[in-house]
Amino acid sequence: MINALSVDVEDWFQVTAFEKIIRRDDWDTCESRVTSNVHKILDILSPAGVKATFFILGWIAERFPKLVVSIRDGGHEISTHGYDHKLILLQNKEEFYRDVAKAIKVLESIIGEKVIGYRAPSCSIVPETLWAWEQLAELGIRYDSSIFPIKHDRYGVAGLPRYPFTVNLGNGRNLVEFPLSTVRIMGKNIPIAGGGYLRLYPYWFVKWAVKRINKRGHPAIFYLHPWEIDPFQPKQEVNLFKKLRHYSNIWATESKIKALIQDFQFTTVREVLNM
Ligand SMILES: [Zn+2]
Repeated sequence: MINALSVDVEDWFQVTAFEKIIRRDDWDTCESRVTSNVHKILDILSPAGVKATFFILGWIAERFPKLVVSIRDGGHEISTHGYDHKLILLQNKEEFYRDVAKAIKVLESIIGEKVIGYRAPSCSIVPETLWAWEQLAELGIRYDSSIFPIKHDRYGVAGLPRYPFTVNLGNGRNLVEFPLSTVRIMGKNIPIAGGGYLRLYPYWFVKWAVKRINKRGHPAIFYLHPWEIDPFQPKQEVNLFKKLRHYSNIWATESKIKALIQDFQFTTVREVLNM
């Protein structure tokens, strides 16, 4: 069974946890660490021959086109994370359409290839924003990987399938959704897909969960942010909860990713979905 590995390419100051203390207008004044962090990830994947999907923020691609080319030249898939990292809940349909269209245009002009994959900022496709699928299909997006089939304070659509499924949008249009991986324990969907979960859980638990998903005949999907392998990023004064979510076990991410790609097979989302 081949699993999907994905990286949401954004800088440390663009995360939702810091949106109240670092304004969008100030992004250009922050110390950018995304290039070196992405290269760190590429250097982990390359010797193992592992390919991944990089959901790149348009704002980053525009400023660092060479980074996009380096990722593509490494044989990885280029997908979009939207342009501005604004939660979909805070946008109307027109704003959302414009944001993703702009992001796709930036990436396609750099790589000269079609972009077919999307991941929402902070997985913000939730029950109130399921209309986003329609807009994405309109923009030529063929798969989305933004749904957490869980209950959570910030994201999640409980009750949706836990494995890739086709969303029929009417008039013969459709799109494939690849939900972020969960394991079902005592009737509850527990997220394991990466990010903070990968950092917080002991590795044996993550390994057990992926084995269980694969044993049932399904691929797992993991996500990672470049700032999650950067213990030396500038520290921000936020509340304890946000601090825990952002900084916990950052020092352990690299070794956990290395263990995962050694213990399981991983490739791009596009390849897992056979597109
Ligand atoms: Zn993001």
